[in-house]
Amino acid sequence: MENARKRLESKGIRPTYQRMAVLSFLLGNRTHPSVEDIYEELLRDIPTISKTTVYNTLQMLSGNGLVSHLNIFDSQSRYDGFTEPHHHFLCESCGKLIDLMIKCPNAKIGCVMGHKINEVHGYFKGICKDCLKKERRR
Ligand SMILES: [Zn+2]
Ligand SMILES: [Zn+2]
Repeated sequence: MENARKRLESKGIRPTYQRMAVLSFLLGNRTHPSVEDIYEELLRDIPTISKTTVYNTLQMLSGNGLVSHLNIFDSQSRYDGFTEPHHHFLCESCGKLIDLMIKCPNAKIGCVMGHKINEVHGYFKGICKDCLKKERRR
């Protein structure tokens, strides 16, 4: 929570309990949860929280660059508290969304053909190592 408070304050955002809870959950969970996942987790601690509050908080945090917004699924947004440039791997078998730490020549934010690049997202799909192991055991 302390880490979340510092990050919010560094952007000049008032660190309300709900904002700190949302950001702190994302900082502690590298699973790239959806709004629903975060809402259900936080509901245990904060019974008064609404899904709209979680959604609006996520919009605000991503607008300030404190979390990343992932569009790998057409129908569902996912959120990431790890904001260093990195790519994502989707396991087509178990649905896990995993950070892919590869050196990417495009990850440096700059200009391409005169266009200013603000974000780079790489989405990779395949079968994760855990599912590969399970397949081999069959
Ligand atoms: Zn898998
Ligand atoms: Zn990630």
